[in-house]
Amino acid sequence: MSLLLGCIADDFTGATDLANNLVRSGMRVVQTIGVPAQALQADVDAVVVALKSRTVPPEEAVAQSLQALAWLKAQGVQQVYFKYCSTFDSWYRGDVRGNIGPVSEALMAAMGTDFTIATPAFPDNQRTVFKGYLFVGDGLLSESGMKDHPLTPMNDANLVRVLQAQCQHRVGLIDHKTVAMGAQAIRERIQALRAEGVRLAVVDAVSNDDLMRLGPALKDMPLVTAGSGVAIGLPANWGLKPSPTTSRLPPAQGLQAIVSGSCSQATQGQVAEFKQRGGPAWSLDPLRLTDDQALADCVQEALAWAAPLVAQGPVLVYSTSEPGAVQAIQTQMGAAVAGHRVEQTLAQIARGLVQLGVRQLVVAGGETSGACVQALAIEQLQIGPQIDPGVPWCHAPTPLAPGQGVHVALKSGNFGTPDFFSKSLAQLKAAA
Ligand code: ADP
Repeated sequence: MSLLLGCIADDFTGATDLANNLVRSGMRVVQTIGVPAQALQADVDAVVVALKSRTVPPEEAVAQSLQALAWLKAQGVQQVYFKYCSTFDSWYRGDVRGNIGPVSEALMAAMGTDFTIATPAFPDNQRTVFKGYLFVGDGLLSESGMKDHPLTPMNDANLVRVLQAQCQHRVGLIDHKTVAMGAQAIRERIQALRAEGVRLAVVDAVSNDDLMRLGPALKDMPLVTAGSGVAIGLPANWGLKPSPTTSRLPPAQGLQAIVSGSCSQATQGQVAEFKQRGGPAWSLDPLRLTDDQALADCVQEALAWAAPLVAQGPVLVYSTSEPGAVQAIQTQMGAAVAGHRVEQTLAQIARGLVQLGVRQLVVAGGETSGACVQALAIEQLQIGPQIDPGVPWCHAPTPLAPGQGVHVALKSGNFGTPDFFSKSLAQLKAAA
């Protein structure tokens, strides 16, 4: 079967989140890390190209996205999905407020289409849109933690206004009254907006039912822009239904390990839980990472520690610390230097663990995951069953395990239940 849906995601864990929703709704999905140099080799229904464009200036985000579009078109996809964050944030500096609008309009121009929708609604994750306003949990986006975000503050919850400020063309709204009436009413509203000269429309959605009503109305829309929520309503347009076979991965083999560079609250709980259970754990002290030699020494030490233990069961290598300790390290080393050195060290340790025979690897932390995937030279991930919302098991070819590949679970900071580490590894074993 030919490729149906081609997706462009503006960051790595966001791409996995989207892929996970598509798999759960009946599609077989591969995620690529960046734009592949070659044609896709996998027999799947959808492909998600993971870019790193969320926090780059609009010109750069546009260039990356157009490159991804060109590759997707060459693969013959029938529909394109531009995926951004469910809090609708992106590049922000002074007068330039966001790259979602510029990327959407550039994709529309390149595809020769004159209308698309925009909605970050993801009710499963407490992101809902009503009258064009984005709610995070029970409050407006502008009253959530996002108002103080250091890089991408969101102090206006009115998405029509936010998107209009980023766009050349007119932005409108498909409100909840219309969405509640179903696909036909949505289609009619789209035609009416189009006739008024509107080119992008924010869509209200407060429940999965709304997203399922929206899905059929998007059937013939060449380009859809959204968070990951809208994805649940699309596979049915090709007659695809949720099925356990879409998330089937090759059987798991080899040894098990966890690498954690996330200091988010959920991860702190997960590290504590693994240790409480008596799991072997090695802690990385960032202050030791003074230069390349010290970094290499730490990698060797961690691997020498892990080698005899990992044959017995899962081991954990972590830099996870509570906020006070992280603050102290950042003051001493500088936040960027500390972050980069810790990521590089953990990524080299992940590489060494795979060389020791680890074939089931859990990585905690978005940036940490990016560094590990790079160190393992992973270019493509096949998306498997969900462990917790937003985190699926994946299988990836790597030159470090030729012919075999490695199972990886890439968990962004605040995802996952406290027992995530042992639960995820047990799930893979049970499925094997
Ligand atoms: P999350 O998904 O929780 O945000 P990330 O991996 O994206 O996790 O980001 C965590 C960042 O913090 C990384 O750059 C990592 O290298 C850095 N880091 C990890 N542990 C420490 C530590 N103990 N002190 C300072 N920085 C750390």
